[in-house]
Amino acid sequence: MARSGRNARGPLVGLLIAALVSLACAGGGLAEPEGERPAPEVSKASPEANTTRADSTTSVAEFEQDVADAQAIAERYWAAQFKASAQRFQPIRRITPYQREGEVSCGGQPLPRNNAVYCSQGDFIAYDVAWSVGAFRQVGDAFVFYLLGHEYAHGIQVRLGINYSFTIQQELQADCMAGAYLGDSVRSGALTLAEGDLDEFREGVAAVGDDPDQPWFAEGSHGTAEQRTDSFFRGYERSLEACDLG
Ligand SMILES: [Zn+2]
Repeated sequence: MARSGRNARGPLVGLLIAALVSLACAGGGLAEPEGERPAPEVSKASPEANTTRADSTTSVAEFEQDVADAQAIAERYWAAQFKASAQRFQPIRRITPYQREGEVSCGGQPLPRNNAVYCSQGDFIAYDVAWSVGAFRQVGDAFVFYLLGHEYAHGIQVRLGINYSFTIQQELQADCMAGAYLGDSVRSGALTLAEGDLDEFREGVAAVGDDPDQPWFAEGSHGTAEQRTDSFFRGYERSLEACDLG
């Protein structure tokens, strides 16, 4: 996965998703406690994680660079979409890493560990660094671009005034929008995929699916692995027309 201008990386060899990860993120801005899952095991707990990814290093610096690239690409992408509709675009105000529970709050609610959210009060994305780096090491760098794209999409939903009755509709649309920003950016040449990145998307999106017994209408439902993968790739292949933005 490379932003244009950076060197494309080699193929990814082997994927390890030992633990499921979950994106708990609410369009309304609050993290859902039931979205929490154990953090993916990282380096010391899972030494093989460091040897599964052949396409680049797994350093925190690499992770941070990917976050910055994903942010830049998302901003450029959404700015162009808004411009095409003659609307003014305001980028999401900031992206905030955190390390401890309660270090960052959203609307007065402390954000828990093992989470990534878009917070509409304050218009920012926040993510648990250890959790996110763990997922990055487990799934691959494509996961960072998906994660950022999904949270960014929640910010776009707020800008467009989209507010579904059920969490799952909001979440699956955000997956579709994340797919569209990535697919369109690849098609425009803003982003270059390395061999294996598409598989990383597939594995990464599936890994954040709900438990099969989670009721679809429940507060906090994000969709099953199959639903999330379908939504993501619908957007990836067919762009925003597939995402029911209205
Ligand atoms: Zn979400």
